[in-house]
Amino acid sequence: MAVPAIMRAMRDFDDLFAALRKSPFRCRFRLGPQDRAYLEQKTLAVVLDHGRQFVRQRLAPAVPRNDGRQTPMRGHPIFVAQHATATCCRGCLAKWHFIAPGRALTDEEVEYVVEVLGRWLAGATEDAESPAA
Ligand SMILES: [Zn+2]
Repeated sequence: MAVPAIMRAMRDFDDLFAALRKSPFRCRFRLGPQDRAYLEQKTLAVVLDHGRQFVRQRLAPAVPRNDGRQTPMRGHPIFVAQHATATCCRGCLAKWHFIAPGRALTDEEVEYVVEVLGRWLAGATEDAESPAA
């Protein structure tokens, strides 16, 4: 599938997820039983809709409120996914995703973040389904 031009300005997914797997801090974030149950009940599509709203409200403004502390550590699978994928604040978006701070996110950037969250959540659910080693 062709990658839209705007995506090339952000980070390649394989490169990104390979880097995240090497970060002990990011790897600490896992879905808890409540998050998994919620995800199963709501479906990934609905949870990602919530994610899009969180991203628009908490990350997308040029100067988000409480930037650096706007994403709770738990309480919604999206929050966990945001910490696991370094999409929790504008500092992490700049460092990990090459998205410049100090300006509002474009629609494409919002969708990119939602895609990152979706990919992580899909992987996190698969892990749960594979038999314990
Ligand atoms: Zn952050």
